[in-house]
Amino acid sequence: MKVLGLETSCDETGLAIYDSELNGGQGGLLAQVLYSQIELHATYGGVVPELASRDHIRKLVPLFNELLDKANIAKSDIDAVAYTKGPGLIGALMTGVLFGRTLAYGLGVPAIGVHHMEGHLLAPMIENDKGVNFPFVCLLVSGGHTMLVRADGVGRYEILGESIDDAVGECFDKTAKMLGLPYPGGPNVERLAKGGNPHAYDLPRPMMGRGLDFSFSGMKTAVHNLIKDTKGSDTDPVVRADISASFQYAVVDTLVKKCTKALKQTGLTQLVIAGGVSANASLRAHLEIALAKMGASVHYAPLHLCTDNGAMIAYAGYCRLSMGQTDDLSVACVPRWSMESLSV
Ligand code: ATP
Ligand code: MG
Ligand code: FE
Repeated sequence: MKVLGLETSCDETGLAIYDSELNGGQGGLLAQVLYSQIELHATYGGVVPELASRDHIRKLVPLFNELLDKANIAKSDIDAVAYTKGPGLIGALMTGVLFGRTLAYGLGVPAIGVHHMEGHLLAPMIENDKGVNFPFVCLLVSGGHTMLVRADGVGRYEILGESIDDAVGECFDKTAKMLGLPYPGGPNVERLAKGGNPHAYDLPRPMMGRGLDFSFSGMKTAVHNLIKDTKGSDTDPVVRADISASFQYAVVDTLVKKCTKALKQTGLTQLVIAGGVSANASLRAHLEIALAKMGASVHYAPLHLCTDNGAMIAYAGYCRLSMGQTDDLSVACVPRWSMESLSV
């Protein structure tokens, strides 16, 4: 079965084809294309929703044709269409929903609307060489979400904790901005942090004693004050690297402690990390060390499947279709949508 996946919830237009017959029936990705609008929004210092929607409309058809070329298939070979139905920017979501729902109708194949965060959560299972299986704890860390989720199966999610304010990705992006680094901040802060001393400055570990919730807005203020009070934070490469490394270490340390706490609380021994921030090498390395000590394992997707992409939507769509689910003919999106309300 070949499932087309469409992702347009924010500033990435991602398309992919998941083919369940690849790799001797294990399934895999036949082809994928991705267009990022980063440059379009760069001048404004953040994503402009109306510009995002218009650009998705401009790119969807050419990207779709490019995808078919890459996959070396015809439109008629597509067996089902999956699109991001929410959460996200309403206008941006509508472009993908309309394109996907219409295409499926035209081809006479089923369509399925996918929850963007379920896409992220399932992404590490697409090329699942380390063999992660349900149940597991998932740390979802992206530009708009920071959550610890207990996952017992597709659609069976319990939120164990979440950020009461900023998301981790957002915190990376704001720190980057304060250091004069371009968007998206995560990879740029990570690069700068490589040469720095993570113990140079002591930054707060917010809400450490309190359950499994997170808070990152205080961290943002702390970084702001540190930059303001530190001589050379704008020019001295060593100081700048030390600030980046100290910030990254404070965030990673907080996440690692919450993850180990969640594993102990649930008694589970597998941790999945997903979403853009799961691309962070320091987070991965520190989790590997901490979890090995407690006999647990950590699983993540390859780098290109951590940030937004069409492949995760195609795969989540495939999982949903395999459970017998499809969407009706209405063109509808859900900009705010809790993972706990998903059907099984
Ligand atoms: P959401 O999924 O919550 O709707 P989003 O789709 O915008 O938000 P993603 O595409 O999953 O988020 O991830 C983008 C975020 O990941 C950005 O905030 C970016 O800075 C962060 N990020 C990407 N790579 C890294 C990295 N190597 N280290 C830290 N953060 C990173
Ligand atoms: Mg993005
Ligand atoms: Fe995302």
